[in-house]
This record gives sequence, structure tokens and C-alpha cells, in this order.
Amino acid sequence: MDPVQYNELTRFLKDHKLSFEKQNGKQKKKFLTMAQHFVWEKEELQRKTEKRRVKVIQNFQVIPLLQVLHDSPTASHAGINKIFQVVQQRYYWSQMFEDIRNYVKTCDDCQRRGGLQKNNVIHLILAKAPF
Ligand SMILES: [Zn+2]
Repeated sequence: MDPVQYNELTRFLKDHKLSFEKQNGKQKKKFLTMAQHFVWEKEELQRKTEKRRVKVIQNFQVIPLLQVLHDSPTASHAGINKIFQVVQQRYYWSQMFEDIRNYVKTCDDCQRRGGLQKNNVIHLILAKAPF
């Protein structure tokens, strides 16, 4: 989440204060509708989903988080969908899927392995073909 939105939400949820340009009209309505999905709890901004509350991740936290979920020895370069599943259960920011996809796609190790996997798939298809 970008810092402006994060600060506005935090300020509103903690102190019930609206920024100047959101004190009237459409902007206010839009902001209040959006703010309904969020809570301030345990000193962090959380987003309410159907089943649970998840932590809101700020822009500067996205890459460090993906590094842990993808590059760490226990993560062993998990794939896009696997990371997305984990992220979805615990965190929220806009463009989650895109960010994860871009991160995995630009990972050096994965690009090398991706090439290998492609070859394997081709072999598999050829082996299964009836001719
Ligand atoms: Zn990787």
C-alpha cells in the first residue's frame, strides 16, 4: 500500500481524523467505504476479509517480504501460485499477484530453472504422444 493511503487510513482508524480533501462530498464517501474494510489492531493496519484479518503491507515492505517467501532456504524458490496462497492468507496490498509474478519472473535462479522446466515439459509431451 502506498504511504499516503496508509497514513490516511491509520489516522482515520486511530483518531477518526480525515485529511482535508476528504472531509466532504464524493471523496469522503469513497474513503469511508474503503475504510470499512480496514481495522487498526495490535498496532498494525489490518484488512478484513471474509474469513480473517490480514496485515496490510506497505510498499517498502513488499520486496523484503517476497525475499523471505521466495529466496529463503525454507522457501526454496516457491512458485507464483504457492507464494500467492501464503500471501493471501496473511497479508494485503494492492497488486499482490502482479508483484509476486514480477518478483518470481525476475529471479535469476528461477529463470534458469524455468528454462529447464520448459524442456522437461516438452519431453513429457513428446513421450506421451501416440506417434
Ligand atoms: Zn527464484
